[in-house]
Amino acid sequence: MTTTAPQERVLATLNADGSRRWLRPRLSRGRFLTARRVVAYFLIALFTLIPFIPVNGHPALLFDIPARRFHVFGATFFPTDTALMALLFLSIFLAIFFVTALFGRVWCGWACPQTVYMEFLYRPIERLFEGEPGRKQRITGATGLRKALKHAVFFACSIYLAHTFLAYFVGVERLWQWVQRSPMEHPGAFLVMAITTALMSFDFAFFREQTCLVACPYGRFQAAMLDRNSLIVTYDRARGEPRGKKKRTPTAAPDVALRVLPGAPPAPSPAAQPRSLGDCIDCTLCVTTCPTGIDIREGLQMECIGCAQCIDACDSVMDKIGRPRGLIRYSSQNIVEGKARSILRPRLALYPAVIAGLLTLFVVLLAGKSTAEAAVLPRQGAPFYLLDTGEVSNQVRLRLVNRAATDASFTISTAEPARIILDTNPVSVPAGESVTVGLTIAFPPALLNDRGAAVLTITISDGAEFTRPIEYRVLGPAGRKLREMKSRSESDRDPVTD
Ligand code: SF4
Ligand code: SF4
Repeated sequence: MTTTAPQERVLATLNADGSRRWLRPRLSRGRFLTARRVVAYFLIALFTLIPFIPVNGHPALLFDIPARRFHVFGATFFPTDTALMALLFLSIFLAIFFVTALFGRVWCGWACPQTVYMEFLYRPIERLFEGEPGRKQRITGATGLRKALKHAVFFACSIYLAHTFLAYFVGVERLWQWVQRSPMEHPGAFLVMAITTALMSFDFAFFREQTCLVACPYGRFQAAMLDRNSLIVTYDRARGEPRGKKKRTPTAAPDVALRVLPGAPPAPSPAAQPRSLGDCIDCTLCVTTCPTGIDIREGLQMECIGCAQCIDACDSVMDKIGRPRGLIRYSSQNIVEGKARSILRPRLALYPAVIAGLLTLFVVLLAGKSTAEAAVLPRQGAPFYLLDTGEVSNQVRLRLVNRAATDASFTISTAEPARIILDTNPVSVPAGESVTVGLTIAFPPALLNDRGAAVLTITISDGAEFTRPIEYRVLGPAGRKLREMKSRSESDRDPVTD
């Protein structure tokens, strides 16, 4: 069978024959690694603690999908709040666009959980068991055992991550109950946990950078969100090329620009130099340290997550050969190409303006929301029943939502001669919860029109600031049956006439 090699590189992590090129990026110590470590461990602590932090009696973030409500820093959102949630998420997306336009893929390289856990939890564990790539491997022997131990620790980390992740959806209390009990008591929850753990293990032990390269949609949006003035990790081609090996220059070697200053020592004639080379010594440290396996010297690429590992690598090389740092640096395409950087760009004014408008609308709508919600819904089954009392009854469902920070009791009533039949009235609803109860509306047939329908007002009140009258169309018999019932009830009411 003949195979055809690609004309050009398709993915940095693909070999020419289509097999995966496994990456083991070397660690490049430097100021950016130190800063990223601080940020990463702060974020790991934050991701872990947020489900434990109570705000208004609920976790700071809880996406309670089974109960169909989200708790976001003290505010509770129900399915009826779709518009509010849409405003909030739209604002967050636009904020990401804004930050990306300003600082490039700072989210990917510094704050994305994929990067944070991969680079600052799983890779350090890997180095612990298998040694540091590019350095003298201090750990020798028992390779298989070390790999097995590494994967055992990876698995333990994945269990921890899966529990952290699920805590955002079920809350720590329910999670703790599940952990203490046998999986057979909650097989569904256990299955979700097992699948999440397996996905985490697959991602961090096997799939790794492929998540950023082929699975995450954010990288694809990059081209639309970046412009030529956005802050990105760039290679200074004008300074670095032509690249090539060269001897170390004496420390404090005058910079190219200094050589033309008045009074500066004369520049050596080109003929006296062995070769006219740029600052890049083609050591490829910036490539071997890259967690996505790309060569930043080839220009801005979709795979670059802006992690700055190549900056630290190259800065250490520049220090060693006595050249100024910054051959690879955070900059913009315009600056590196010698063009002016425009600070005032339309999108930098537009994004904040739209975000401010959306957030203002969000706050106004949120502040104007009532402390409760009530909805009357029909129940399945017959549209009406005839009671022994001669009344007609309709069975309905009443959904009550308590948005307040305290528990509330709602009284359900209607105008006589109709009445509400309910086991417990008033109905108690805990703070931030919703309750659906079944109730019966009983009414005399005299209220019905010829088509067998009437509109009744059901009033729901918490006795304080919430009172909601709801008009509900009840049904009953029509035609001859209705006339019979009406005449019977009239005769019952007036026995003297009989
Ligand atoms: S680390 Fe710097 S000097 Fe080495 S190859 Fe990369 S750009 Fe060139
Ligand atoms: S090119 Fe540099 S900044 Fe981009 S992903 Fe690779 S190491 Fe990180």
